Amino acid sequence: MPPSRQIRITSSAQRIMMEFAQSSPVREVIGVIFGYVNDQQEVCITKAHPFRIGQKHEVQFIDEDYERVYPLIKSHEAEGLMWVGWFHSHPFKGGDHIYMSKTDIKYHSNAQSGNPNWTAIVINPYQSQDPNTFHGMRAFRTISSSNKLFSGTKVETLLIEHL
Ligand SMILES: [Zn+2]
Repeated sequence: MPPSRQIRITSSAQRIMMEFAQSSPVREVIGVIFGYVNDQQEVCITKAHPFRIGQKHEVQFIDEDYERVYPLIKSHEAEGLMWVGWFHSHPFKGGDHIYMSKTDIKYHSNAQSGNPNWTAIVINPYQSQDPNTFHGMRAFRTISSSNKLFSGTKVETLLIEHL
């Protein structure tokens, strides 16, 4: 069964991501998320780990982040949790900045091709009160098309609820 468009986040994971984003008001931040898939094929995010502060308009994982994630994979495995995706911030004032950039889409669709549950969370600390978001966050996956009339990668916005 394909993953559900509905995902769930614990309030502690939500708070860790937002506090990390708020701690860096002008530079993007990045981190990893862990969780499990429930019987409804919903990705349930229970743990978030802040990794790094990047540049003003760009943040990516670097080699040492992958070394850092291996021990987390091991310790979470013992709790029945998997590495289910990543989060990063778009800390920009005024308007709606919670979307997947071209760079985000490229990175994400590569990773998602090896894990269909792979989920991206984008956060804007300045949109935490925006009612069109989940407390300043949105979640995304990519859809690759092999259709000849439409080639390329589309972004699917997921529904978020509390776990
Ligand atoms: Zn981005």
